[in-house]
Amino acid sequence: MKLYSTNNKNHFVSFKDAVFNSLPLDKGLYMPEIIPQLTPSFIDTIQDKSLQEIAFEVASTLLKDEIPAADLKTIINEAINFDAPAVKLDENTFVLELFHGPSLAFKDFGARFMSRVMGYFLRADEKLLDVLVATSGDTGGAVALGFLNVDNTRVTILYPKGKVSEIQELQLTTNGHNIRAIEIDGTFDDCQALVKQAFGDAELNAKLRLTSANSINIARLIPQTFYYFYAYAQLKKQGFTDVIFSVPSGNFGNIGAGIMAYKMGLPVKQFIAATNVNDTVPRFLKTGIYEAKPSVQTYSNAMDVGAPSNWVRIMDLFGEEAAQLKSIISSESFTDEQTFASIIEIFDKYNYVACPHTAIAYLAIQNYRAEHPKNQSATVFLSTAHACKFPDIFPKNIAEKIEIPVQVSELAHKAKLVDNLGIDFEGFKNYLLNR
Ligand SMILES: *Cc1c(COP(=O)(O)O)cnc(C)c1O
Repeated sequence: MKLYSTNNKNHFVSFKDAVFNSLPLDKGLYMPEIIPQLTPSFIDTIQDKSLQEIAFEVASTLLKDEIPAADLKTIINEAINFDAPAVKLDENTFVLELFHGPSLAFKDFGARFMSRVMGYFLRADEKLLDVLVATSGDTGGAVALGFLNVDNTRVTILYPKGKVSEIQELQLTTNGHNIRAIEIDGTFDDCQALVKQAFGDAELNAKLRLTSANSINIARLIPQTFYYFYAYAQLKKQGFTDVIFSVPSGNFGNIGAGIMAYKMGLPVKQFIAATNVNDTVPRFLKTGIYEAKPSVQTYSNAMDVGAPSNWVRIMDLFGEEAAQLKSIISSESFTDEQTFASIIEIFDKYNYVACPHTAIAYLAIQNYRAEHPKNQSATVFLSTAHACKFPDIFPKNIAEKIEIPVQVSELAHKAKLVDNLGIDFEGFKNYLLNR
């Protein structure tokens, strides 16, 4: 698989280079030169396959020239070692639970796969890989747990002091081994600025092999296609022939992977990109004008993105066919009040606790069904995180019903390991060089 930059389609890099560069220098995003097709027999028999079997077939269709089959199988089996069940709520409404990994969010798919792909390429090249990541909460946990004990890697996580939730902090700080966490006396933006400055620092780059575990890395996108195929497999087993996916969207990586799956041959009738009031994409699809805005804080904070970075990938997948894009993707935005009401509705109707991001995807499904009363397709909304990660949002009667998974209850007994730094770059640089 060769990859080009969305800003320059004549310049190609190998998959390995795309993974370690993360971003092309021209600030585009890497995209595969060719989107390969799954075979018809794969789709015909998909209902009999496990998530891991599906993941392997999809991954090898993309990466067979990059990673030998046996190694790819090992990577998949280590990375995707948890389930993604499509839970039935009523006749044709399903919630695809993507939160059964170690950090309790769908980002585990991307982070675990990417970390093992990097580990695989590092076997032939022994210089320690230093992964730097700034987090406002969720990404750091997925990356930390994804890289934990991956040989030849060391992860440094920066997070803003006092600004991540209790569970998130435990996920960041209780790992030890090759993971270290730094509490920065500042905001998320300060954390991100320190990481950016490190990547631009000549001395650091001469002495260390730095990489970012950024969410736009192509190795995070690929594994997110797996669960779209697997969702389809589960629904096909129950007699459905096509599917409508509603995806809670922030940076549009998750839905971007769904559209890549569609372009690889997955039968999807409609994608709905559900956003909070950070509505750059829904506005664009309505007006044709793309205008990024500063992000606004909401209950669904992992989707507080004013300039969704993966949108260019989606545009790129459709190229000149803008009309096709507009017919397969619709998009709607919802307020915090609507999100809160949705959480209550899902609980009252189905005795199910949805996190705020998930509740927004449910609302978009409700609107779709109101507009298409004769719809017979399966409607699936993606649940991107476990509700226990957002304890402050729920009314008391619902909060009491949230079951705490073992991944979290185990953390409470572990010691927090954390270093403290201010926001000056020299302090951070010294830390990287000397600790
Ligand atoms: C990251 C995240 C999202 C947004 O996903 P994108 O791929 O950025 O669109 C939604 N929900 C949760 C819980 C997340 O952590």
